[in-house]
Amino acid sequence: MIRGAPKVLLHDHLDGGLRPQTVIELAQDAGYGDLPTVQPEELGRWFRSGADRKSLELYLEGFRHTVAVMQTPMAIARVASECAQDLAADGIVYAEVRYAPELSTQQGLPLEAVMEAWLAGFEQGAQAAAAAGRPIVIRAIVTAMRQLARSVEIAELSVRYRDQGVVGFDIAGPEAGFPPSRHLDAFQLIHHANFHVTIHAGEAFGLPSIWEALQWCGAERLGHGVRIVDDITISPDGDISMGRLAQYVRDVRVPLEMCPTSNVHTGAVPSIEAHPIDLLRRLRFRVTVNTDNRLMSGVSLSDEFISLVRTFGFGLDEMQWLSTNAMKSSFLAFDERLRLINGVIKPGYERLKAEELARSPTLV
Ligand SMILES: [Zn+2]
Repeated sequence: MIRGAPKVLLHDHLDGGLRPQTVIELAQDAGYGDLPTVQPEELGRWFRSGADRKSLELYLEGFRHTVAVMQTPMAIARVASECAQDLAADGIVYAEVRYAPELSTQQGLPLEAVMEAWLAGFEQGAQAAAAAGRPIVIRAIVTAMRQLARSVEIAELSVRYRDQGVVGFDIAGPEAGFPPSRHLDAFQLIHHANFHVTIHAGEAFGLPSIWEALQWCGAERLGHGVRIVDDITISPDGDISMGRLAQYVRDVRVPLEMCPTSNVHTGAVPSIEAHPIDLLRRLRFRVTVNTDNRLMSGVSLSDEFISLVRTFGFGLDEMQWLSTNAMKSSFLAFDERLRLINGVIKPGYERLKAEELARSPTLV
């Protein structure tokens, strides 16, 4: 039922979601010999155990291999097409997938060629998914790496491709020591172009990072944002009080792109049970559920929902609320968002709820 439910994904990395078999084949094509193994299942396990080391810096190490095999237009287009098809097969009806095109320039590929291969791959994958009866709308978010110095150029690139499938700009990479305010010029360029920005903040680093992302850089959404709980106090008798920043995030409905399994793997939270997603949902923050890196964390969006159902007892009502939250928070044009909410998400959950009721009529 969870796999069949219409889902929305706002935070997923193109270079973190390759099929293990594809990594192996692309490595062979490229003559890349650094993979730890050429057995797909073993490779999948290797990525997962490499990711689950409770440190964002260690978590990011696996990307060396995926990025190494994404250096030609053909490889990038294949990865993008498979991404669209895999997400559609998982029941995702709308996705925003991000990538830092500067990572694919190791062999001299121009940024424009990276963009064109990526977007063509999405189009091809979405067509194949529709032909297979699983239509998906998929858009790109262009990421700049926070430890590098090309963010203005990358922001400009994202705006240039806005009519070809790019819906926003992001910065990612190690958080400690690289505050988002290092990239103010890039964010200003985005704002001047009336374009959209989400920022990875409050994952490995606390409230100051979230505050900078929102109040200096004008982030419309927060990548992860889990550390916002540091501004929420629960007294022994259960009273909840919030600091100014948490209040602001809730009041202006800042979407939180939460990625539960990835947050456990990077050490942002100790376990799914201890993840603040349920507390934040109960406090009516604008919570969304995401995968971050399907290969590294060994998850799909359905898997993330399954673990939330098991851990917090979420049902179809919570899934619909989270999926609608995500759709409302997307960077897609407002009329297209409404079309997906009213034409796909709502009727999809109504149908599933009717089926659930038909299976257990005694609960009525
Ligand atoms: Zn991320």
